[in-house]
Amino acid sequence: VRKNSLWTKEGIIKSPYARVDVPNYTLYDYVWLNLEKWPERTLTVCARTGRGYTYEQAFNLSNAFAANLRQKFKIRDGDVITVMLPNVPDFPLIMLGVMAAGGVVTTINPIYTAHEIQRQLLMSDSKMIVTLPDKVNVVREAIKIAKLNIPIIVIKTNGDPIPEGTVAFNELSEDIHVDKSCLKKVRRTANDLCFLPYSSGTTGLPKGVELTHRNIIANCQQISDPAINCNEETTATHQDVAMAILPFFHIYGSVVVGFHEMAQGVKLVTLDKFQPEVYLQAIEKFKVNILFLAPPLIILMTQHPMASAKVYQYLDHVINGAAPIVATDAERFLSKVQRKIRFGQGYGLTETAPVVAMSPKTLYDYNAVGHPVANTDIRIVDNDLKNLGPNETGELLVRGPQVMRGYRNNSEANANVLTNDGWFRTGDLATVDDDGIIKICDRLKELIKVKGFQVPPAELEAVLRDHPAVSDAAVIGVPHATKGETPKAFVALKPGFSASPKDLCSFVAERVAAYKRIDDISVLESIPRSAAGKILRKDLKSKYC
Ligand code: AMP
Repeated sequence: VRKNSLWTKEGIIKSPYARVDVPNYTLYDYVWLNLEKWPERTLTVCARTGRGYTYEQAFNLSNAFAANLRQKFKIRDGDVITVMLPNVPDFPLIMLGVMAAGGVVTTINPIYTAHEIQRQLLMSDSKMIVTLPDKVNVVREAIKIAKLNIPIIVIKTNGDPIPEGTVAFNELSEDIHVDKSCLKKVRRTANDLCFLPYSSGTTGLPKGVELTHRNIIANCQQISDPAINCNEETTATHQDVAMAILPFFHIYGSVVVGFHEMAQGVKLVTLDKFQPEVYLQAIEKFKVNILFLAPPLIILMTQHPMASAKVYQYLDHVINGAAPIVATDAERFLSKVQRKIRFGQGYGLTETAPVVAMSPKTLYDYNAVGHPVANTDIRIVDNDLKNLGPNETGELLVRGPQVMRGYRNNSEANANVLTNDGWFRTGDLATVDDDGIIKICDRLKELIKVKGFQVPPAELEAVLRDHPAVSDAAVIGVPHATKGETPKAFVALKPGFSASPKDLCSFVAERVAAYKRIDDISVLESIPRSAAGKILRKDLKSKYC
């Protein structure tokens, strides 16, 4: 790692890592490129059931699925398909199958309510949804609210019959008679869209983040630099094992743990239901040596009665991302491990496919997120977007091949975050020292992150404003010991109406996924707003928190 002179005269911070090539492939071609080196190796295995696939099986099943998507369901280049699944071992096959059929994957958290699902189905213009049999009722409700008529594909995880009117994924993927020659008609290039995750970004409601094959391949290449990569070479005698505990429906899970590790022949141990005991046992049982985690998992892995050096005996690399970790939490976890292992951090966003910065193996400052990854420049700016110098706090801007094409159909949001000279505004506050080491200090944007998951205040405010007694609402994030942050709401009531905070909490709970629920709602005379009508969140924070 080249350390000195990472700062240019203009105040841009360069990556110390060697430039990487971004091959002109589609993502599925990139992931399967080395397939013949490890066809018999396990690609995914479920920690709970042992169900899983080898690389060769996954490739064949994924392509048969793709061919059936085109033939039976008339999926065409650019069509969006929703995947709403926990981490089942089939998840990566489905994503790559959709892409091989020319489609674009959008992902939804499987605990979403019908209200949340229908919004994304409509916004993404989804042609189909893939889910679990026990989610079919909520999906049907969402499809009904959205007034759509789209097929539902389900993953059969046991011998139970699948709900009537749905199609089993394995019928499509195990169809040995399907004619795969239709896949030759797919016209997808590196610069086409392949993934459309949703993120609220700096402000407002969730928006479709347009990621191309190239964005994601670039990021896989960037985090494969030997100075930061977790993987050894997969050989006849060695295969790294990574735990796929972070959800594949989030960009960190799908790209960093999914596509990046698959391209290098790693075994992914998946877990579809979070059961701490099963998770901890699996780390030892499957000899997991690579763990990508978010702060709440690191805390659990320190405090759980089963946590022990024996459970962690095979670990080599632990990487935190998605939300800030306190160095003392990292140290406490490492004292449980009782061996010298690498503990690093990655920093990124859905909009940057996702990694912007990552600690090199040699960095022991757990408050830092390392350097910008290869081919990536960053700068730290003040409110007027003027560059700041070493150790000054300002907004972090990024320029690199991983930066999204833009938000889908949203020129206003794009104008707010993508500058004319090619920089993306992260909405995060950071400092960079003389050696080019980045520390994330705070969030300038309104986004709240609960256990690493996005909770956009605008979404909760819209739900609260739907309540018949509420005239205005504001939501802010407050620190929480285990979740990182939790939402706190303020409402103003319509004259003559009344509603108790408890009623309002239940109203929200019925409409949003569990992690977005609010337990703390205060009633105010009015919500403080600027002359332009913007909620003055800082005032609320300083006055009431
Ligand atoms: P998401 O798009 O859901 O991945 O959320 C991106 C946001 O998560 C970033 O803008 C940061 O605010 C936060 N974030 C991600 N990684 C880190 C990290 N290592 N440390 C602090 N915050 C992080």
